[in-house]
Amino acid sequence: MSLAIHWFRRDLRLDDNPALHAASSRFDQVLPVYILSQWKQHHRWTGPLRQHFLCDALASLRQSLRDAGSDLLLLQGDATTQLEKLLHTSGASALFANRAPDPFGRATEKRLAEVTRQLGVELHLFKDAALHERDEVLTGSGSPFRVFTPYSRAWSKLPKPSPLPTPPARLQAPAQVVLSQGLPLPSLETWNLPPLSTRHSASLPEASEHAARKRLDHFLATSGPSYAASRDLPGAESTSRISQDLRFGLLSIRRVYAAVLQRMEGATLLQRQSLQTFINELCWREFYFQVLWHWPEVLEVEFSPAYRGLPWKNHPAAFERWSHGQTGFPIVDAGMRQLLETGFMHNRVRMIVAMFLTKDLHLDWRQGESWFMQHLLDGEIASNNGGWQWSAGTGTDAAPYFRIQNPWTQSERFDPDGLYIKRWIPELRDVPPVRFKGPPTPGIPLAKGYPLPMLDHSVARDAALEMYKSHLAKASR
Ligand code: FAD
Repeated sequence: MSLAIHWFRRDLRLDDNPALHAASSRFDQVLPVYILSQWKQHHRWTGPLRQHFLCDALASLRQSLRDAGSDLLLLQGDATTQLEKLLHTSGASALFANRAPDPFGRATEKRLAEVTRQLGVELHLFKDAALHERDEVLTGSGSPFRVFTPYSRAWSKLPKPSPLPTPPARLQAPAQVVLSQGLPLPSLETWNLPPLSTRHSASLPEASEHAARKRLDHFLATSGPSYAASRDLPGAESTSRISQDLRFGLLSIRRVYAAVLQRMEGATLLQRQSLQTFINELCWREFYFQVLWHWPEVLEVEFSPAYRGLPWKNHPAAFERWSHGQTGFPIVDAGMRQLLETGFMHNRVRMIVAMFLTKDLHLDWRQGESWFMQHLLDGEIASNNGGWQWSAGTGTDAAPYFRIQNPWTQSERFDPDGLYIKRWIPELRDVPPVRFKGPPTPGIPLAKGYPLPMLDHSVARDAALEMYKSHLAKASR
């Protein structure tokens, strides 16, 4: 009997899984394995809420595999070392996996290519996380795009891959002797983390393939056709909420794209335009994947070299107030509290809080990037870095640093009735929303127990402009 290993990475599903599908069609037996990371090495890139979501997603994946006649082997440690050992002990003659879109995954794939070559084992890697990856979308002269709009034009013109037409061939259970070498399902204890409070775990979305598909279907049946009009209103909760599903691969991007196209059939022009806006957001995701692919240094430095070495402040107390939603700016605090409570923050508010950190507090965007990665369920290295650099004015955006959002006017425009603010800041529930549109009377807090604004936005804004301007002047000398 021929045996192959399928290594699950960020593709925790059976549906439309190219590597699993290929392995199960070409080999008699497939051994599915997931390798748990070693928490300590990854503290910058993940946090307890996300690990909790992962644990649930793995439990659900194992159940789906069992229902399909198979099982899931769980190992922990360095992926290359673990897979090398497993190839030895199992006698598998091929390793299948879907490619990861980040430099860490890419480095592992390089090492695996070497290991499998030495062992004389086949290695098969597949495109999965994106509709178009790596250098599939290039300028006419063959270089990568640095700016979103021309990238999206080129991206839109390319034919899109379809989901696989059939489920994977029936999977045969791997030998008990191999499975018995594995670990039990993980919990936060696996990484020496305390369990989540009931309130926290209840606030997380269900982590399963089935639940992810339901979220997508619900969005397309309800707010999808009016997405363009409501996507910027955090109080409306009208976006798809599938970002963590795409991050962990509970949903395939091809399935999402196909479902959106199907929804467009028979829709009105306005509805189709809205769904097109949604596709444009999927394109942003792929734009940032390709930025990280071509310029992996963005994880350390500013994408735009002119902004490297900006004199960011070191102010731990200010960071503490920002990160715990105690700035005295309601829209900022609501976002930061939503993040701590649920591991999610609405996109408009992500932009507002990121600009506040960089352009009001003058703190390094990398501090915010890291905080987001530790708390977001959907923490996606490429999109998070792209979003932070966009907000700091150091990234791919053509509009430069002097785009500075005013948190008061942002509240007025995007949360006019204060729905979002009141949802996340209980102290402000009885405050009339008109009071969120500008600073309170000096010395008088908006409500008992809620802090006064920690700064004057117009003063902080002028100081930010001066910081950027004088840095650019120095850099150009
Ligand atoms: P929807 O509005 O329904 O969009 C559908 C999908 O499109 C999302 O699930 C996501 O995969 C993609 N998408 C939407 N907007 C963007 C965008 N601006 N950039 C890239 N992809 C996008 N998104 C992440 O998935 N992970 C992150 O770690 C992340 N960090 C961010 C940090 C900052 C500072 C900013 C400004 C944005 C960040 N985003 C990130 C993008 C965006 O905020 C989230 O994708 C979105 O809020 C997720 O909610 P949703 O699934 O309801 O989105």
